[in-house]
Amino acid sequence: MHLRQKMNKINESWHKKNLMPDNPTMEQRIKWHLEHIKYCACRDIPIKLKQEMKRRKIKFPA
Ligand SMILES: [Zn+2]
Repeated sequence: MHLRQKMNKINESWHKKNLMPDNPTMEQRIKWHLEHIKYCACRDIPIKLKQEMKRRKIKFPA
């Protein structure tokens, strides 16, 4: 993780209810981040995941 990452507001209750699985599959990561971005602003979708979503023609908020 980047140390200089911006400290955006974290929705802790959402995170407690929506833990990322251990060793998530690509599908699980995409699903998690699509939900995450709706409820929490603590971090952005990783660039690698955005590329994968574009490849799969999955829409995500800019
Ligand atoms: Zn978050």
